Amino acid sequence: MPRFDKDEIKEQITPEMVEDIVRDFGGDPHKTNFGFIAGTICHNHPGEGSHKLYYYANTKLFRCYTGCDATFDIFELCCKVHDLAKPELPKWNLFNAIKYVADRTGISISFEDDTDSFGEIPNQEIFEKYEKLKVSTEDVKRLQLKAYDPIILDRLCYPRIADWIDEGMSEEVLRVNRIGFCPSTDQITIPHFDKDGRFVGLRGRYLGKEEAALYGKYRPMYLNGQMYNHPLGFNLYNLNNSKQQISKMRKAIVFEGEKSCLLYQSYFGMKNDISVACCGSAVSSYQMNLLQECGATEIIIAFDRQFQQRNDDEFKHLVKNLKAIHKKYGNYVNISFVFDKDMVTGYKDSPIDCGAETFVRLFKNRVVL
Ligand SMILES: [Zn+2]
Repeated sequence: MPRFDKDEIKEQITPEMVEDIVRDFGGDPHKTNFGFIAGTICHNHPGEGSHKLYYYANTKLFRCYTGCDATFDIFELCCKVHDLAKPELPKWNLFNAIKYVADRTGISISFEDDTDSFGEIPNQEIFEKYEKLKVSTEDVKRLQLKAYDPIILDRLCYPRIADWIDEGMSEEVLRVNRIGFCPSTDQITIPHFDKDGRFVGLRGRYLGKEEAALYGKYRPMYLNGQMYNHPLGFNLYNLNNSKQQISKMRKAIVFEGEKSCLLYQSYFGMKNDISVACCGSAVSSYQMNLLQECGATEIIIAFDRQFQQRNDDEFKHLVKNLKAIHKKYGNYVNISFVFDKDMVTGYKDSPIDCGAETFVRLFKNRVVL
């Protein structure tokens, strides 16, 4: 067995990252004061089980209160979900799960260089690839996401979405990005495409406050018996639109949410769009690779202002998170941060939420570590 500490790796994984992974799996997590509650994807297909899978942030453990009636960690959950989804493939082991989690979250794995024990690692080359960070074309092909039939997009409504237009998005941008509306569920619909324009997922955003509080603001759409989910960490929202400008300007801006890309296009024009959204609280190594493959030599991280005051716990957490990104990727690509240290935007705002002028100011003052 390789000598590395599973708990040490687990230590680096935040509850938000775990939530992102569960969301990828179609687990539909709802935040609670102890962590979150999700559908029982441990023994059911996404969308089929009840919400009886509990995650406790203090112990970093899941507890399934129905079918499994057991306690397990994130790696075990990954194995369960994989084996359930792909019964025809060999069962996943701990190494497969760690590989997946590391790819998805961008955490780095280090283990003692002990060549004698390497022979026992079933897929050692994968670990070596993490260190090198470059993914071969073969890997890219293997990770190509399943495409859905885009005909579903023709069946949604495309009314004027006043809430979002009031926030600064142009009608043209909403139209081009096929932002729609699903009346039966009262959700704004956001199609996700991969860099080649294949339709890989459909996310819904609840307008009603009650539904948003109950189900979380964003969730994959479930229409006509089909769950339109995709692993968010293995795609970049809007890269299909921005890849050419990214390769020309050699810069890319990574926002957390889709709406920030729509605002960027609305303010600066689609011809100047160099934005993508990682759709979570962490950028994955796969996503960083995608940007480098498009020719980005500077990656600008423009995450939400997830702190109330300078030096509060959230502030420290965010700074630690950003420093970790820099440490992991800084040797391969220039990394800078749009960071609202003077708090000109609101709590939990994206740097682009307070208009073009504010964004430009924050962008010009971006931090290079
Ligand atoms: Zn279960």
